[in-house]
Amino acid sequence: MQKNGKVTLSFSKTGYAKSNQIENIDHVIAALPSHALSAILRRSNHVSRSNMEVSDNHELVTSTLGIMLRHIHWVDVAVVNIEYDGRPSEILPHVGFGHLVPSSEASNVLGVVYDSCVFPQHDRLSSPSTRLTCMMGGSWFQDLFGDPDKVTPAELEEAALHSLSEQLGIHKEPSNMHVTVCRKCIPTYRVGHTDLVENAEDFISEHSLPLSLVGSSYWGVSINDCIFNSRIAANNILKKQGFSS
Ligand SMILES: Cc1cc2nc3c(=O)[nH]c(=O)nc-3n(C[C@H](O)[C@H](O)[C@H](O)COP(=O)(O)OP(=O)(O)OC[C@H]3O[C@@H](n4cnc5c(N)ncnc54)[C@H](O)[C@@H]3O)c2cc1C
Repeated sequence: MQKNGKVTLSFSKTGYAKSNQIENIDHVIAALPSHALSAILRRSNHVSRSNMEVSDNHELVTSTLGIMLRHIHWVDVAVVNIEYDGRPSEILPHVGFGHLVPSSEASNVLGVVYDSCVFPQHDRLSSPSTRLTCMMGGSWFQDLFGDPDKVTPAELEEAALHSLSEQLGIHKEPSNMHVTVCRKCIPTYRVGHTDLVENAEDFISEHSLPLSLVGSSYWGVSINDCIFNSRIAANNILKKQGFSS
C-alpha cells in the first residue's frame, strides 16, 4: 500500500518494497465499492511491477479477482431534495417514513423519504417546513432521463414534482430544491450474484489473500446489512488471529 494516499494492492509473500513510499500491511478490509476495488486490483500490477518484485502468478491473481468484481453491476440515482413551507401534516396525505414505488408501476421516482417526519430536528427553525427526498433512476435511469452526464437539474426537478403531484397530491410550489446525480452509487444484484461473490471469496481463500470484502457490493445493500457483514468479517479475522470474538 502506498503512503502517498494512492492505494494499490500487492499480495505477495515474496514481494518486498523497493521504495519507502510503500507500507507493508498484514490484512486489508476493503470497504470500497466493488467497481473501485476492481479498478485498483487491475491497475495494481502495473504499479507493483515498478516498486516490488512480484511474480507473474501474483499478477494473474490480482487481475483475476479484479475482473471477477467488475461483474457486479452499479447504477446511477438522481436525488432531488425538496422543501415546502408548512408542516408535514399540512403538506402530506400521510405522515410516515416515506413510500417506495413497485417496479410494475410507471413512475419517475423509485421512492420518496419524508425527511421531516423521520428527522424533524433537521428542519429549519425559523418556520414550519416539510422536506422530502425523491430518489429517481436506478436501473431505469437511461430510459427515463437519458445520459446522466447530460440530463439537466431542471428536468430532474420537473420529473420529481410531477411524481409528487401524482402520488401525494402535492401541487404547491416548493420553497427549495436541490438536485444531485449520484453516479454508480448503488449495486443492483443480478441473477447469479450470490455465486459471483462466493466464487470471489473462495478465490481469496484459495490464494490465501489477506483481504476481506465488506460493504454494499456483496451481501446486502442496506446500512444494516453493511454493518452486520462487517462485524462478521471482523470476527473472522479475530478468529484467524486466535482471538475469540
Ligand atoms: C440514494 C440512496 C438512498 C439509500 N437509502 C437507504 C436507506 O434508506 N436505508 C438503507 O439501509 N440503505 C439505503 N441506501 C443504501 C446504503 O446507504 C448504502 O448501500 C450503504 O451506505 C453503503 O455503505 P458502504 O460502506 O458499502 O459504502 P459507502 O458508504 O459508499 O462507502 C464507500 C467509501 O469508499 C470511498 N471510495 C470510493 N472509491 C474510492 C477509491 N477509489 N479510493 C478510496 N476511497 C474510495 C467513498 O468515498 C466512500 O467513502 C441508500 C443508497 C442510496 C444511493
